[in-house]
Amino acid sequence: MRWTSRGQSSDVEDRRGEVVAGRRMLGGPKLGIGGILLLLVLSFVFKRDLFQLVGVGSEVGQPLPGQASSTTRTTSPQEDQLAEFASFVVGDVQDTWTREFEAAGERYERAKLVLFTDAVRSGCGFAEAAMGPFYCPVDGKVYVDLGFYRELKERFGAPGDFAQAYVIAHEIGHHVQHLLGIDEKVRNLQASNPGQANELSVRLELQADCLAGVWGHSTARRDILEAGDVEEGLAAASAVGDDRIQAQATGQVRPETWTHGSSKQRATWFRAGFDSGDMNRCDTFAGLGR
Ligand SMILES: [Zn+2]
Repeated sequence: MRWTSRGQSSDVEDRRGEVVAGRRMLGGPKLGIGGILLLLVLSFVFKRDLFQLVGVGSEVGQPLPGQASSTTRTTSPQEDQLAEFASFVVGDVQDTWTREFEAAGERYERAKLVLFTDAVRSGCGFAEAAMGPFYCPVDGKVYVDLGFYRELKERFGAPGDFAQAYVIAHEIGHHVQHLLGIDEKVRNLQASNPGQANELSVRLELQADCLAGVWGHSTARRDILEAGDVEEGLAAASAVGDDRIQAQATGQVRPETWTHGSSKQRATWFRAGFDSGDMNRCDTFAGLGR
């Protein structure tokens, strides 16, 4: 891809410095002893755990071994460049969706891209990098571990930058589905037709691929694609898989729905979005149950 750094997009939450150990989060803002006492008092008064609100583990009142030394982590220049690229992509994908929604008389609500390392606490629960990138509908954020990106880059080389972009565009596709209420409809259908739950999940994933293609169409029109970008992106995306967890509103992970459709299906639907640039061509649910 031909891209230029725009610096850090306001769409990005960089949490790479945070360390999350097990289910206890040690990172978050550093509070002085005064801040901790104040939050303890306020939590008591309001009968709520206000440490959650400021992103500090609720166990903060107890000794946290190693906290001082483990909350900071230096990032490499390569990692920073990946972060800049991710920042460019999420901004560009969402600018595209803002235009698409406006054209349809709707308002697009931007999602955040959370960059993390190793583990993260999301609105859908605790997640580890090994689970792969994912979208959490509860907090409307996309979570990407740069370690996953590094792996993608090392495996597929420099021309694979479109693969990294594709992963983000696919996850933002889930956000678009969420804004349109499609994910909720699918969850309701899955609850009433358990036998079709997997099939519905696949169609939801294929639609996210098609929506990623709609963005791809826009990049082609603006001439920021390079030869082979699309093919390499598709190959990498289907080889690696993408969001391997399906975070439900309940925060539960359901391995039986870790299905994204075959590589061929994914490529076909990406193409449908890419060739038309029209999200109305992304009806992956047509003919369901026939
Ligand atoms: Zn997905």
